[in-house]
Amino acid sequence: LWGQAREELQKIIGADSFATWIEPLRLTGVDDGTATIASPTRFLSDWVSRHYSDDIVKVLGRVGSPVHRVTFETRAQTARQAAAPARRAPAPRPAAGEELTAPLDQRFTFDNFVVGKPNELAHAAALRVAAGGPVTFNPLFLYGGVGLGKTHLMHAIAREIRANQPEARVLYLSAEQFMYRFVQALRERTVMDFKELFRTVSVLMVDDLQFIGGKDSTQEEFFHTFNTLVDQGKQIVISADRAPGEIKDMEERIKSRLQCGLIVDLHPTDYELRLGILQSKTDAFRTQYPGLQMAPGVLEFLAHRITSNVRVLEGALQRLFAFASLMGREITLDMTQECLADILRANDRKVSIEEIQRKVAEHYNIRLADMIGPKRVRTVARPRQIAMYLAKQMTSRSLPEIGRRFGGRDHTTIMHGVRKIEELRGADSGLAEDIDLLRRLLEA
Ligand code: ADP
Ligand code: MG
Repeated sequence: LWGQAREELQKIIGADSFATWIEPLRLTGVDDGTATIASPTRFLSDWVSRHYSDDIVKVLGRVGSPVHRVTFETRAQTARQAAAPARRAPAPRPAAGEELTAPLDQRFTFDNFVVGKPNELAHAAALRVAAGGPVTFNPLFLYGGVGLGKTHLMHAIAREIRANQPEARVLYLSAEQFMYRFVQALRERTVMDFKELFRTVSVLMVDDLQFIGGKDSTQEEFFHTFNTLVDQGKQIVISADRAPGEIKDMEERIKSRLQCGLIVDLHPTDYELRLGILQSKTDAFRTQYPGLQMAPGVLEFLAHRITSNVRVLEGALQRLFAFASLMGREITLDMTQECLADILRANDRKVSIEEIQRKVAEHYNIRLADMIGPKRVRTVARPRQIAMYLAKQMTSRSLPEIGRRFGGRDHTTIMHGVRKIEELRGADSGLAEDIDLLRRLLEA
């Protein structure tokens, strides 16, 4: 049972987190809807209970053992038992000289990174650091939302430095791993080794720094490591999901040290970048699925409709290729809509018809009420049609549904409006630009 649950958990939380947090745990019993899990340390069980309880409950239910609660026991005895089968798995013990670096993803290279407006600065800064030479900005702090390429750039930097300077010791790990290893060193009384190890690297790269917010002793240790390395002129690269000043429960002195270097953010993707990424991934897929045909317009459709993040975009494309090759059919727009219905719907929720009406009304300086009102003067009717057009393009609402949101208009009225704008769009480049701008505003 636990074996199955573990497999499922690994799928949900990913191999890295799994190895760090779940691998050392054992299920010791299920009683009256409560699962008891043995953990070698209090720290581990605290962390897992705070971050993964829900996942564990969900997964146990899925593999046929419905529970509503998870409790942890951390006894010295269970610790020994639990640790035994998991020997090879979790973070290795930090002994001096031992490499602690996390594995690099083969696909995360500079070659595979598509550059566009939203990420060009981050990319340029990453290239500069990867080129080595005198340390120009320290630390390099990359931040941005989920799935925008932070980890990709970090791995690319690490790989490049290792290739160009084989003697350099590049240490790349997530803040979670940093913390785990530090706490482990405390527990095993190997803190001196830990310090030694971290302070003798040439390049330190810490991914997802936001995870150590609120972890006081870990922050303290990170701060000292950081200062020592900066003083020695060693390069530090950090990523986080937000700017240094915004990280919750992070000590002020750390924030201000982080702000001394170069801070660059990865902006949400725009249409061009998404299209570029899709094209590049499609080229890669084509070698994997030779002979597969794709109808024109599919990539453009995806770039318009899947705006959440690159990871989702990639996943969608992958599913599409797998599906088409299984069916032995060309990838068409219809197939895309059918095969990716769930992803498309999830992305839709982000833009509502109300938001579209509000933005368009604002842009053309008309009253929001006129969007649904009866006025027929051109200055009002045209923006209304533009809003209808965007509602059709950017949401998966049907024409009658859209009609209802536009003051109960008939679906033929909506269709007429959409057609009108499509027609004008081709002839009037000013209007086309307006629409692009509005779409961008709504997607942001
Ligand atoms: P983050 O660490 O910011 O959450 P990742 O670096 O893990 O995001 O990126 C998520 C996925 O999207 C990865 O598979 C990565 O290769 C891909 N990706 C993100 N940005 C780009 C880009 N500009 N070009 C190519 N692939 C990208
Ligand atoms: Mg990441």
